[in-house]
Amino acid sequence: MRHCRYLFLLILLYTAPVAEAQHAKLNYTIAHWMDNKKAALSLTFDDAINGQFTVALPMLNSYGFRATFFIITSFVQPQLKSWQPITDAANVGHEIASHTVTHPFLHKTPADSIHWQFAESNKIIAEKVPGRGTPTLAYPYGDGGNATDSEQMVRNIAQGYFTGARATRNNQLPYNAYDFAQTADDYYKVNSDMIADSASIGSFVRHLDETILAGGWYVPTYHGIENGWIIVKKDAFAKQLAEIDTRKKDIWIAPFGEVLKYHKERNCATLQVVSRTKHCLTLALSDTLMNDTVYNQPLTISLNINAHRVVNIQQAGKPLKLEAQGNTVCFNAVPGKQPITITKR
Ligand SMILES: [Zn+2]
Repeated sequence: MRHCRYLFLLILLYTAPVAEAQHAKLNYTIAHWMDNKKAALSLTFDDAINGQFTVALPMLNSYGFRATFFIITSFVQPQLKSWQPITDAANVGHEIASHTVTHPFLHKTPADSIHWQFAESNKIIAEKVPGRGTPTLAYPYGDGGNATDSEQMVRNIAQGYFTGARATRNNQLPYNAYDFAQTADDYYKVNSDMIADSASIGSFVRHLDETILAGGWYVPTYHGIENGWIIVKKDAFAKQLAEIDTRKKDIWIAPFGEVLKYHKERNCATLQVVSRTKHCLTLALSDTLMNDTVYNQPLTISLNINAHRVVNIQQAGKPLKLEAQGNTVCFNAVPGKQPITITKR
């Protein structure tokens, strides 16, 4: 965390003389995106095409950018010869997610077959890539984000298997505005921007900058890198990564599933006082999402507190990295049952 936003707002809120009793109320904000970044970016790769692993993956790793690979499970063996490139990617923190078993047009597929496509792809990925976390989905051909009855049925089924899903070009903007999700269903039509083989670096940069300006979430979809189909050549991809890198201070770059969880948690999380003594303040960060083992993405909190008195902040017995500035401390904590303990001098 480089800096705390909202600092001035918090100071304004706090400068008026406040009666002692009112100190019981917490002044805090939860950042829109992790580490107070202005916007979020999830790089996504579809279809498990060879060049994504032989060409793109080492480039992503050299920048420390973690991405999402949406895998068609029955294509892995014929296209990659083994699961090794996929497990290698997972081992350095990339998300391995579902793009179904056989890549059908889901809106033309009977419900029982859709269930099978979702359950079976999740099962295979869980076997091949253990401990990979919570599954997300990209719809084959992007068809799942629209308002038709058949695509609504696809989404209703997807809710039973995935925390969210990526559609393609289902709104006018290249990115998702911060308030894109008004209902649970909206998390199953996250918009993405298809990076065509004809895409220019100019339009890519414009989309990044528009996303930062809007405070949104940009989810570019790639297919072939250097080889395969809908190909982005290695040199063009390198330029895109370099442009992302120069905007790192403004953009949270993380896998699709992590950004999705952050957004879901952030929009229903609250921070409350559990107990308060002279030297110890215990807080509960809770959300309304039922599954704490799934929804374990840390949230960035800015808490208005006399920062110079704070000795440390702990959660589950572990010290949290904190940044103190004037009357505000910033830290990342996981919502759920584990209390947050602030020790003061
Ligand atoms: Zn596909």
